[in-house]
Amino acid sequence: MAQGSAKIRIAHAEPLGQGARLLRLERVDGAELGFAGGQYVIINTGVTLPGGKLAKRAYSLISSDAEQRAVEIAVKRIGAGPGSNVLNDVAVSAELEWSGPWGKLRLPPGFSGRALAIATDTGITAALGAARGAAAAGAAQLDLLWLVESDDYFVPEAFVRERLPAAVRLTVARGVLPVGHPERAERACALAADQLAAGPYDAVLCAGDGAVIYPLRDRLAALGAPEGSVLLESFFNNPMKKSA
Ligand SMILES: Cc1cc2nc3c(=O)[nH]c(=O)nc-3n(C[C@H](O)[C@H](O)[C@H](O)COP(=O)(O)OP(=O)(O)OC[C@H]3O[C@@H](n4cnc5c(N)ncnc54)[C@H](O)[C@@H]3O)c2cc1C
Repeated sequence: MAQGSAKIRIAHAEPLGQGARLLRLERVDGAELGFAGGQYVIINTGVTLPGGKLAKRAYSLISSDAEQRAVEIAVKRIGAGPGSNVLNDVAVSAELEWSGPWGKLRLPPGFSGRALAIATDTGITAALGAARGAAAAGAAQLDLLWLVESDDYFVPEAFVRERLPAAVRLTVARGVLPVGHPERAERACALAADQLAAGPYDAVLCAGDGAVIYPLRDRLAALGAPEGSVLLESFFNNPMKKSA
């Protein structure tokens, strides 16, 4: 199915820990989405921002791309943010609009080497989707490192483990400094270095805090990672955008 916008229905919702929600979404017309694991959709929350624009927010698909009609996202409530609050409160059976699928956080078709996915914070959703997609395509040995502040930051570790293909080795590194801390990137890169020592990896997929994953890519390049072998999906603090 081509990229485009469509009406979607909230088919199911359940709380995930303290401040997050799992949502199952279906297109109202019953069509398949046509996504690959690691991709995301942009949801129009219907909220008009002070400048007059509609709040449209990106969410990575965590369900397996073997199922294309009903897909799942996990949304963490971020302060008073319009997108995450709408999606944490919206009623089951409500209809919204989305566009997608978007994004290139995926291993190339036929990839047969060793891959590492590194997620910070909510970026675990994209890493989970990419890992599921890679496994469904019959690919690769895959390790997954999740850098996260604490157990109750977002989805529980058990939630991730239940959904990961058995062949994927998950390491959760807790105690990462909070978003915005001046030493966050440095500390996160040091944690990732331990994982990188288990390499070498032929491809690295990174998702989450742009203030961490861009320095991480520079570190990997300095260690000799070939150009194009490190793919990034910045969820926030994207240094490539004026306002992340
Ligand atoms: C490709 C992509 C995929 C994404 N996938 C997910 C996902 O699967 N689940 C999910 O919960 N979010 C995801 N996000 C983040 C999401 O799009 C929104 O930014 C988030 O829900 C906050 O939106 P808001 O309107 O509530 O708040 P806003 O008012 O837009 O956000 C307030 C600020 O918080 C920042 N922010 C966003 N997320 C975090 C965070 N985790 N920690 C600290 N600051 C943050 C925003 O960039 C912004 O600067 C993704 C973002 C991108 C770009």
